[in-house]
Amino acid sequence: MSVKIQEGFALFSKRMDAKVYIESDDEVIDNMESQRILEIKKERDERKRKLLFDNLDLIMRHRDEILKTPRYARVDAHYALRGGGAYIGPISMQRTFYAAGFPVTLHITLGSLLGIWGTAAYKVDCSCGNTAYIRSFGGSPLSGMSVAGAICPHCKNEIHGIRSRSFGEYVRPVQNALGSEEAAVSQAFTSGVSGKVCERCSLEKMISELKMREFQDMQ
Ligand SMILES: [Zn+2]
Repeated sequence: MSVKIQEGFALFSKRMDAKVYIESDDEVIDNMESQRILEIKKERDERKRKLLFDNLDLIMRHRDEILKTPRYARVDAHYALRGGGAYIGPISMQRTFYAAGFPVTLHITLGSLLGIWGTAAYKVDCSCGNTAYIRSFGGSPLSGMSVAGAICPHCKNEIHGIRSRSFGEYVRPVQNALGSEEAAVSQAFTSGVSGKVCERCSLEKMISELKMREFQDMQ
């Protein structure tokens, strides 16, 4: 955050003589790097989102296995859903809270996402006879009106202009998912029992493992 400083010329000259800069070169470089990291993260989220939806049929075929496998269920999927509301802006798919004074950031995991897609509000019938899943929504928390878009994993059809649900029906499952993640982490902090360390897995790695398995099953 930048702070506007009202400074007279005399004070400015004095400060320059003393070589006291408001923002040092090191800070400028640090801020520029932070900006670049944010841009790369944004590009990465876009790429991962496309990859996830391009492989949604594969993911849905292995739904039960993903939910049972912690390293798959814990894959970060905060970029998948996009939601926003009038007056309140984007619906965050991440949450930061403090546990024992330390900031902990949680995000919508692939396991949570599959749970959200399991709720009636996030499913629509596609003209091909299969189920399509909501991936973006917008609306008003005041009137409850909403409009959403879905994608069918089977025929890849994009369905726009879904207006049959209330805005809250989309927001609640997201908040519930983040809420139960937070409760689990808080409990681990208070009990001191953090459980088994889960091996980290990326969306890319999971997709290639699932594809390989299907290929081997075909042989
Ligand atoms: Zn379809």
